[in-house]
Parts: sequence; C-alpha cells; structure tokens
Amino acid sequence: MSEFSLIYQHFKNCTPKNPLTQIGIGDDCAVSNIPPNAQLVSCVDTLVMGRHFPHSTSAYAVGFKSVAVNLSDLASMGATPYAILLGLSLPSHFANDEFLGEFTQGLADICRAFNVDLIGGDTTKSEILTISVTALGFVPSGQAILRSGAKVGDVVCVSSEIGSASFALKQILNGEKSDLQNALDLPNPQIKLGQKLIGFANSMIDISDGLGQDFGHILTANDVGAVLDLAKIPCNRLLQTLPNDEKWQHILNGGDDYQLCFTMSQENFAKFNELYPNEIFAIGEIVADKGLKLVNHGEKVNFTINGWQHF
Ligand code: ADP
Ligand code: MG
Repeated sequence: MSEFSLIYQHFKNCTPKNPLTQIGIGDDCAVSNIPPNAQLVSCVDTLVMGRHFPHSTSAYAVGFKSVAVNLSDLASMGATPYAILLGLSLPSHFANDEFLGEFTQGLADICRAFNVDLIGGDTTKSEILTISVTALGFVPSGQAILRSGAKVGDVVCVSSEIGSASFALKQILNGEKSDLQNALDLPNPQIKLGQKLIGFANSMIDISDGLGQDFGHILTANDVGAVLDLAKIPCNRLLQTLPNDEKWQHILNGGDDYQLCFTMSQENFAKFNELYPNEIFAIGEIVADKGLKLVNHGEKVNFTINGWQHF
C-alpha cells in the first residue's frame, strides 16, 4: 500500500470540519484562521509502543489515547482544543486496513467528542510503532493558567480519582483482567473543567507522570511547599482496599491519570464549590516551608516520591 493511499483512505475525512480550518489535509501545510482576542496554545506528546502503552493495547485505544494525552495538556492551561497534527511512524505489519481502520476510529471518536480537526501530519515507516501528536488550542488572551501563580495558603485540588490507570496497568502486566482498563486506555481529558477554572485557579498541571512528581513541578515553579493529606485524595473503590503503601504507590507515583492538579485561594475554592458543587477535591494546602509533606488523617507519613523517569 502506498503512503498516499494510506493517508487519504484513513485520515482525510475522519474528523469534524472546524470552521477555523480553511485548508486541512491534502496541501503542503494546513491554513487556519485565528479567533479574535485569543492566544494559540500548542503542545506535542509522543507515544512509543512498549514504552508508553503495553503491546497488548488495542489499535482503537492507541488512536484514542495519542490524542487524549495531548488534549489533557491543553486542558491544564484552560485552553479550548482546535486541531491536531499526526506524526505516525508505522512498522509494515501495521500498514493495513485492519490496524489503520481501528486506530483511525479511536482517533476520530475523541476528535469528534472535542470538536478537534485533524489538519495534517506525516507518515513514515519505522521499526517501532510511534505516534507523535501535536495539538493546537486557544485561550482568551492573557488567561492561560500556568504552573506558576500558587500562593501560600492556597488550597491544592485534583479533578477526580487518581491512581486508577496505574492499578489497571499493574493488573494487565500481571496477566489479569482489569475493571479499570478504560482509565488506562481511554483517558478523559478534563477540557470542560480546565475552561471553568479560568478566573479561579492560579496554577495548574495535568497529571501524566504521577501526582507526586507532577505536583512537585508546581511547587518548584512557585518556590513554595505543601502539605497533602493522602486520606483526602479521591481514588477508586478497588484501590481503597489495598494496603496503604500499595495504594499510595498508585496514587502518588503511578501516572497516566490525565486528571488536573491545581491551586486556588480559599475564597475562590468556596466560590467555585458554590457554582459547581462536587466537581473538585481539596487534597492539601500550599505552605511557605519548601518540600512536600505527606500526612494521612493528619499523621505524618514517610513515602518516597519517584514518578515516571525517561532516562
Ligand atoms: P509533504 O511531502 O509535502 O510533506 P506528505 O506527502 O507528507 O506531504 O503529506 C501529504 C498530505 O497528507 C499533507 O497535507 C499532510 O499533512 C497529510 N498527512 C500525511 N501524513 C498524515 C497523517 N499521518 N495524518 C494526517 N495527515 C497526514
Ligand atoms: Mg510538501
């Protein structure tokens, strides 16, 4: 199958046509309009088979997740997604209708759910399946939520249950069936919540490499410390029955959550909860003393943070 028939057959009409797109797939570059009073927000994330997802992952999940992890980065800035570009490095045994049909279905489903256009990409042969997605979005000018901005006394929050994907991965690698497989395969980027947090949150990050490590980036960016109460971090009931050390390992060091972690003033926390009850979870407080202090129901806990490291 030629590179061109592969591209056109599978990608040409697989996403909605966002009105911002003047020229999409088929030319040398895409041409897009920029909404007024907006800033462009962009990111790229690469998934490598066997490194970022197990070999057993379905083609559908690979397509879905390669977009989801990028939309999660856009969510962490409060951005509205607009489009993606897809860099696909494909071993020849995946260059067939069966794999590409399923892969494209996963990719198209998440793009449709978030009104995201596939506006271009590049396709090449390689030894290892590697998917590199570039995502573009917009924020109202000057309003992107950064990692910096947290202040002493702020509430630390997360968007939902943490640790499910890590627990699922452990079960799958052990050859067990996991009831939490969807948390690992089909992450749900928190776009709506990210947008709502503009004007409320003063710092934010998405959790991809473990809550402990990723929240650590917020502390570093702000030169502050925090106290987190492990008992307040929401987790699935399947994790609640695990011994504490095992549970905290998934919650703090696991990764692949694609939930949001953010800070806001006590006042904004009260206001947000009044407007949108039960959407965010307070898990701790920013303090002046640097470093991360962990407690469990108020009792000090010693636990080593060691999230995902590439090298
Ligand atoms: P060029 O050689 O000019 O870079 P290509 O032959 O690589 O162009 O691609 C032709 C068209 O197909 C371009 O519009 C490109 O964006 C699109 N395209 C190529 N690969 C992909 C892909 N994996 N996903 C989406 N669009 C793709
Ligand atoms: Mg060209």
